[in-house]
Amino acid sequence: MLITEPNAPARPQADSSAGVRQIPNFIDGRYVDGMRWFDKRSPLDGSLVARVAEAGREQVDAAVRAARSALAGPWGRLTVAQRVDLLHAVADGINRRFDDFLAAEVEDTGKPMSLARHVDIPRGAANFKIFADVVKNVPTEFFETATPDGAGALNYALRRPVGVVGVVCPWNLPLLLMTWKVGPALACGNAVVVKPSEETPQTATLLGEVMNAAGVPAGVYNVVHGFGPGSAGEFLTTHRGVSAITFTGETRTGAAIMKAAAEGARPVSLEMGGKNAAIVFADCDFDAAIEGTLRSCFANCGQVCLGTERVYVERPIFDRFVAALKRGAEGMQLGRPEDPATGMGPLISQEHRDKVLSYYRKAAELGATVVTGGGIPDMPGELAGGAWVQPTLWTGLGDDSPIAKEEIFGPCALVMPFDTEEEAVRRANDNDYGLATAIWTRDLARAHRVAARIDVGLAWVNSWFLRDLRTPFGGAKQSGIGREGGVHSLEFYTELKNVCIKL
Ligand code: NAD
Repeated sequence: MLITEPNAPARPQADSSAGVRQIPNFIDGRYVDGMRWFDKRSPLDGSLVARVAEAGREQVDAAVRAARSALAGPWGRLTVAQRVDLLHAVADGINRRFDDFLAAEVEDTGKPMSLARHVDIPRGAANFKIFADVVKNVPTEFFETATPDGAGALNYALRRPVGVVGVVCPWNLPLLLMTWKVGPALACGNAVVVKPSEETPQTATLLGEVMNAAGVPAGVYNVVHGFGPGSAGEFLTTHRGVSAITFTGETRTGAAIMKAAAEGARPVSLEMGGKNAAIVFADCDFDAAIEGTLRSCFANCGQVCLGTERVYVERPIFDRFVAALKRGAEGMQLGRPEDPATGMGPLISQEHRDKVLSYYRKAAELGATVVTGGGIPDMPGELAGGAWVQPTLWTGLGDDSPIAKEEIFGPCALVMPFDTEEEAVRRANDNDYGLATAIWTRDLARAHRVAARIDVGLAWVNSWFLRDLRTPFGGAKQSGIGREGGVHSLEFYTELKNVCIKL
C-alpha cells in the first residue's frame, strides 16, 4: 500500500505509464494509495490534472488507528510549549514551500494567483501560529470552595484534547479552511484525520510533507481522499474511533454529518451555507460600498461562504448603485490565474456550473431584469472547456423568489431597493441562513442598531471579510452550529475536566 516514503518530493511524481500525477492519501506519516483512483480535472479547461487515491474503509480505519496511536504515544506527552514550537515550525514550513502550495491550490481551484498569494496560502500558515499563541496564553479556571469542616477545597479545570478529530472540508478555500480546523485541533493536543474535498486534494496532501519535515510525529495529521456517501467522508464520520467532527460545507451535508455523529453522541462543529445580505444606506461612503459589495459578490468567483448574494439598497441611491455595480461587474476580467489582470477565475467544476447556470435560467424565467451577465462568457482557446460563468446582477425580483432564498454559490447577486431601516432588517432576516452581513452607513448609531438586530454570526460595518482570527466565527440559523476562532475554538477542541481537591 505504501507508494512514497515520508519526506517525498514536493509534488507526488508523475505516473510514468499515463504521464498523470498521482495524489495519494497521507496516513501515519506516509503516502499511501487507496481502494481506487478518481480523476481531478482542471476548472480552467477541463483537462486531467491528477489521479487521486480514494480511501476506502481500510485506509480510513488505518488513519484513525494511526491518530489514536499518536495520541497514546509521544504526541500525547508533549508539553504545550513543545506543541507550540511544532506548530510554529509547520507555519514556517508552509511559508518555505509557499510557491508549491500556491501552484497546487491554483491548479486545483483555477482561482487567480493573486488571490491565493494574498489570502489562501498566508492564512494557511497564520492558522497554525494564531492557535499556537492562543493555547499558550489560555488561563486556567480556579475556585476556592468552602467546606463544612472549614478546611476548604480547591477546584481547577484542566483542558484535555477530545481525541481524534475528523475534519471534513470544502473546496472553495481549501488550505485556508482546512488549517482553520487543523491548527486549533493540533494546538489543543488532538490528532486529526482530514477529508479534503474531492475537488481540491492537493494542498492537504502537500501539508503532510511539511508536517514530517517539521517533526510532527507520524499519525498526528492524516489525510484521506474521496467523496461523501459510500466513500471516505461517510467512512470517516461514521467511524467510532473519531471523537469529534468539524465540518465546513453545505447545510444539507452538515445535517447528514450530524446524523452520523449522533451514533456515539459525538460533538460536531458545523460551518455551513449562507445567503448573505448587504444593506446599503443612502448615507454610505458610496465608493467604499461599491468596492466592498463588488468584492463580496465576485471574489473567488462568488464561491465564498461569506459572500453577498442579496444586496438591499436604500431607494434614493438605488439606480446609481446598480449602475456602478454593473460597471464594476463588466470591468471584471476573466482569465488565467497567472495573469495579474485576472479578477475572476472559473467555478470549481462543470457540475457546479450546471447548478449556477440553472439559477441564471430560473432568474430569467421568473422575469428578473438581467442587469449584466446571466450566461457563459466567450473564453479563448482551451479555456472554452472550463467552468466559466459571467458575473451576474439581477433586479426586479422579490424576497420570496428562489433567487433571494437559496444559496447559489456563484458570482451573482439580486439587488433590491428598500425604504426604511426597519424594512431592511426585516427583509435581510427573512431567510433560513444566518451567516454574515455587511452594513454600509456613515451613521454609527444606526450601524450598531442594525448590527445588533441582524440574525447572523458575523456582521461587518463598512467592510467585508475583514478578519481577526481571535474573534468568534460561525453562523446563526441554518448556517452553522458552534463558533470557532481564538479561544472559542478551545471549547470544541478540548474537554474541560474539573479537579476538586479537599484540603
Ligand atoms: P459539500 O457539503 O458538498 O462538501 C463538503 C465536504 O463534505 C466535502 O469534502 C465532501 O466530500 C464531504 N461530504 C459530502 N457529503 C458527505 C457525507 N454524506 N458525509 C461526509 N462527508 C460528506 O460542500 P462544498 O460544495 O464542498 O462547499 C460549498 C459549501 O460550503 C457552500 O454551501 C458554502 O456556503 C459552504 N461553506 C461554508 C463556510 C462557512 O464557514 N460557513 C465556509 C466555506 C464554505
